[in-house]
Amino acid sequence: MRDSLGNLSLLQRICTVVVLLCFVHISVTLLYYLRTLDLRGSFLQNQQANSPSPNEAKEPAGVTEAHRLRSALGSNVSGEAGGGLEPCPERSPLLVGPLRIEFSNPVSLDLVRSENPRLSSGGRYKPTDCIALQKVAMIIPFRNRDEHLKFWLYYLHPILQRQQLDYGVYIINQGGEEAFNRAKLLNIGYAEALKEYDYDCFVFSDVDLIPMDDRNTYKCFSQPRHLSVSMDKFGFKLPYNQYFGGVSSMSKQQFLKINGFPNDYWGWGGEDDDIFNRLSSRGMSISRPSGEIGKCRMIRHDRDKQNEPNPQRFDRIAHTRETMNRDGINSLSYKVIKVEKDLLFTKITVDVGKPPA
Ligand code: BGC
Repeated sequence: MRDSLGNLSLLQRICTVVVLLCFVHISVTLLYYLRTLDLRGSFLQNQQANSPSPNEAKEPAGVTEAHRLRSALGSNVSGEAGGGLEPCPERSPLLVGPLRIEFSNPVSLDLVRSENPRLSSGGRYKPTDCIALQKVAMIIPFRNRDEHLKFWLYYLHPILQRQQLDYGVYIINQGGEEAFNRAKLLNIGYAEALKEYDYDCFVFSDVDLIPMDDRNTYKCFSQPRHLSVSMDKFGFKLPYNQYFGGVSSMSKQQFLKINGFPNDYWGWGGEDDDIFNRLSSRGMSISRPSGEIGKCRMIRHDRDKQNEPNPQRFDRIAHTRETMNRDGINSLSYKVIKVEKDLLFTKITVDVGKPPA
């Protein structure tokens, strides 16, 4: 009898211990579960705190470029910057890097218009979710190169929008049949663009050159910038160190410091070397992107009529320092023949006169 009573109390004790152990186990499990909930909560909070601002938003895989641009640019379609907006970041978060550029399929202006719904008349654009750091006039000297212009507009408009620039596109079309005068057309572009808007930076671009990387920002720097530094035409190298042709940019101040560009280079060649001489004679140096970022493609073409190599160019380049004070933006004279406003550009046809007899 005593034995069976003793066994019973042992059994009771064992049961109590088992129940206690179960309780401890359940409590530990519960505590652990509650802690993970807590951690998940703070992880989510952290995620939100670290998530980028609309300016820096990273899109999920599969979002197209047009979507990216549209959502990043927000819904302020009026295009009026200011009103509590922050300045755009130094490096645009919309850039994608290397681009595939090809010219095998022609493009139409209608296609380009439909792909750039945020432009306003005259090829004008400014970001709507931040204040652009620079107001840039794109100046393109032009004559009879409509096919090239379509490619330029097709590729450049989306790039310039991703670069978050406040910009306008000016096609300066040389009327008449005289020899082409690239540098004078660039001077005219500078003067005409400024009549329209308070631009602080000017990009001078040939119509047949397309950048292959959108990190090559078409804006101004503390020194005049040469942007087309590695062209396919030259085996993706500079043809020579002083080369300043193709695409370049200058602030208003830098441009005025050299009295703009020469007006008397008629025909092909030399005017870009003269501009280089002007810059170096005023103590400026050339800023350039890296060879990788500065890659660009040229649309192949035959030499234009009325743009034969200028035989006087060597003599002129040798005398830049003597001529630059009297020949430049201070001596510019021309007549505007026609101004056409398209959604994609402002085209100004001008009479540049003729070379001295
Ligand atoms: C000409 C420049 C030209 C360069 C590259 C030079 O000889 O003077 O105007 O840009 O060659 O073609």
